[in-house]
Amino acid sequence: MADDWLGKVRGHVGEAKGRFDTDRREREAAGNAPASKNIILTEREVRGEWDANRVLFTTLGGQARPITAEDLAAFRHNMRQAERRFEGSKGITARQVIDLASSTPLGYVSNKPGQPRSDIDKARREITMGVPVSALNGTIRFITNAGPDSKKVSRHHVVVNLHEFEAAAAQLAATPNDGKGGKSSKQIANWLRKQKLSFDCDCERHRYFFRYVATIGGFAAGRKETGYPKIRNPKLMGVACKHVLRVMTELESSNAVLRFLEKHLASVSEYKANTTVKQVEAEEALRFKVPARIKTSEQRVAEARKVREKAALARAAKVAASKPPKKTAPASRRAAKTAAETAAETLGKQFDMSPEQVMAILAAQAKAK
Ligand SMILES: [Zn+2]
Repeated sequence: MADDWLGKVRGHVGEAKGRFDTDRREREAAGNAPASKNIILTEREVRGEWDANRVLFTTLGGQARPITAEDLAAFRHNMRQAERRFEGSKGITARQVIDLASSTPLGYVSNKPGQPRSDIDKARREITMGVPVSALNGTIRFITNAGPDSKKVSRHHVVVNLHEFEAAAAQLAATPNDGKGGKSSKQIANWLRKQKLSFDCDCERHRYFFRYVATIGGFAAGRKETGYPKIRNPKLMGVACKHVLRVMTELESSNAVLRFLEKHLASVSEYKANTTVKQVEAEEALRFKVPARIKTSEQRVAEARKVREKAALARAAKVAASKPPKKTAPASRRAAKTAAETAAETLGKQFDMSPEQVMAILAAQAKAK
């Protein structure tokens, strides 16, 4: 079955908490390791309290080599850059996550031709499913399929905190029950999913490459990471793993998530709500689910322009078709045909279509009359 990866919905909170607990324990042990074995580069060290006897490595510049005082200055610079990129504010929107993953990606080390080069590439190709399975107030739990190279697990847990949940609940409370006036629960749910949020993922990419970025950007929903990713991501590029990118896309644009949020909001009482999807509901929803396309804002603008242009062409074709054909002598009829072809060519160029496609639209319009 295509949704084998989903597994059991029951117990998903326990499984997610178990994985995050393991991460926390391992990180604590790494932080407490004796100096000779400790590889964590702490906040204070990055700020300059650096013991020159300590040998830690970085990949800044390409090759792994011992960290110098100049590297620490470069790390501080990278932190300021990242803070600026995330506008130094609390939280991030789903749209910003997708756009930043595209504009400032963290590349993959092994750039084999034809292989995915970024997390957004991987999200598009490998992580085709992301479904909300439960929500407690503003915390929404999603499950995604794991990528084809994942040997340990078949699914991942992405936790999203919607920062404006209480504001949405307040809006809903101010809406009369008679269906008149105020915003509908669908409108409020749609507003809520476009506001600021924070997130966490249980995968290793998030853990070793992005959790630090999420921490300084103010959008880490789980454990905060204070150790600088000097080996994995010294330039602090990118923003989210492929699982989070899939979830951000579904959260922001899929009808399934909109319905889920609407249902969740509808159950709010005294600013609290607790929703869990049943196993059969989750399986049923996945059976017909087509993954939402992961589009950057740039791609959306380009697609909207194409739609407008096609509509303009159709209108132009309608006007042309409504004009009665002139009775002309054979010679000038030939000339008229050439003129129509020239027009089709011009329109075609303008609308990114072949002259034949334009002629076909004109013919269809004439026939429809
Ligand atoms: Zn992940």
